Amino acid sequence: MDGSAPAPDPRPGSSPPELHGEALTARIDEILSAQAKHFASGRTLPREAREEALRALLHAFETKEKLIFDALHADLHKCATEAYFTEAGFTTAEIKHALRNLGRWMKPETSLSPLAVAPSRSFVHHQPLGLNLIIAPWNYPVQLAFAPLVGALAAGNVAVLKPSELAPASSAACAEIAREAFPEELVAVLEGGIETSQALLQRRWDHIFFTGGTSVGRIVAKAGAEHLARVTLELGGKSPTIVTASADLDVAARRIAWAKGVNAGQTCVAPDYVLVEAAVHDGLVSRLKAAFVDFYGQDPQRSPDYGRIVNERHFQRLVRLLDPDKVAHGGEHDEADRYLAPTLMTEVTMDDAVMADEIFGPILPILRVDSLDEAIATIGQRPNPLALYLFTTERADENKVIERVSFGGGCINNAITHLGDPKLPFGGIGTSGAGAYHGHYSFEVFSHRKAVMKSANFLDPAIKYPPYEGKLGIFRRLIG
Ligand code: NAD
Repeated sequence: MDGSAPAPDPRPGSSPPELHGEALTARIDEILSAQAKHFASGRTLPREAREEALRALLHAFETKEKLIFDALHADLHKCATEAYFTEAGFTTAEIKHALRNLGRWMKPETSLSPLAVAPSRSFVHHQPLGLNLIIAPWNYPVQLAFAPLVGALAAGNVAVLKPSELAPASSAACAEIAREAFPEELVAVLEGGIETSQALLQRRWDHIFFTGGTSVGRIVAKAGAEHLARVTLELGGKSPTIVTASADLDVAARRIAWAKGVNAGQTCVAPDYVLVEAAVHDGLVSRLKAAFVDFYGQDPQRSPDYGRIVNERHFQRLVRLLDPDKVAHGGEHDEADRYLAPTLMTEVTMDDAVMADEIFGPILPILRVDSLDEAIATIGQRPNPLALYLFTTERADENKVIERVSFGGGCINNAITHLGDPKLPFGGIGTSGAGAYHGHYSFEVFSHRKAVMKSANFLDPAIKYPPYEGKLGIFRRLIG
């Protein structure tokens, strides 16, 4: 997590000056009263209104694609292709998926009620939660603000987005997209840093959807508890990758190197470290080196496809994790450019600094294990990972890891690609988060499942009413 105050940023597209003190309070009052009124009017409820909002967002994304690409390049040196598949394209795919499925999602789920309450029918009605606060981090600053919003709008809500101050150009782009697509009473973007976030968190929300680090997640959970708001936490952690002796090493190395290289490793589900069976350790390391060179050339600093570290503080934090004796590949860095090469560290132990916290950068430590069981035991001693990747060709290994290891979600013989399937819930467990979204799960996370039983009037047997004397046996037969 990042607790530093926002520094003035010279990059293009930087946000306008943020509000403080009374001006901030007044602005929040203004937005919240407009949104509360709008939600209470019921105008967000009809399917047509939801579809109109989703189409407006889709249109804004399509017309403002260049703004999004420029902002992501300014903040993180993301190339257009990566900006498309991880942010703009990812979000528009979520919008289109919601538009295609909204009618089905909104249908009440009906069932026949039990005999004891006959004649009745039961159904679940999806009710929007109301006022939603969506707080986003800096690493996928556009996608992580708007992908949750897709669920909020599909479910018939109003929302306030608070983008990250650490990606200022993207934060300004988020504000512009929302202004273009929505009236403020439906969706408002409030830019700013920790003061803004904390001022928002003091208010009463029906739902707080937070994406960010585990320590700020605790602050958010406490703020939500104050008003008993629903809280969804999309957090981080150290996501392990296991490579067994049976793995296809060529494929494994390319997929791991790719997943680590995306956004220069600043991805919540990036492979944080590798546990590799000793027999294939050297083979994996040599293939990982080759894959990094294939993808980004001999000098990745000159590759248009390789990102930069978001700011000076994170750059310094990452450089401190490098142990020169253990760097097997990469390690080159340039402070002025916030550049850190894709780096492999070998002979790493659990006592090394790089294994203490989530790395969140392009450093990949490789640790030898003697067996899959040792890998499972090692992971089990640490907090629940957000993601886990297993490379193996043995079905028994897959079953063992899936059944025995607790993690948010993951892949077998791949890495980070599980996020690309809108039919899969995306979320953590324990310290890596609570709640999940994407596709239908986004609709669910922004809805209350209201349980309703509807009974017919034509039959009302006296047997169910007092006096109960002599009726216990009948109740036993009906209920038990
Ligand atoms: P962060 O927790 O520092 O900040 C996230 C948001 O919280 C920002 O908008 C920030 O302004 C706000 N914030 C920061 N400090 C705050 C405080 N004291 N009180 C209230 N609000 C505060 O996270 P980050 O550095 O922006 O992002 C990196 C973290 O996010 C990593 O741990 C990463 O794993 C995690 N992450 C998780 C996911 C996911 O989907 N699970 C996705 C991306 C990032």
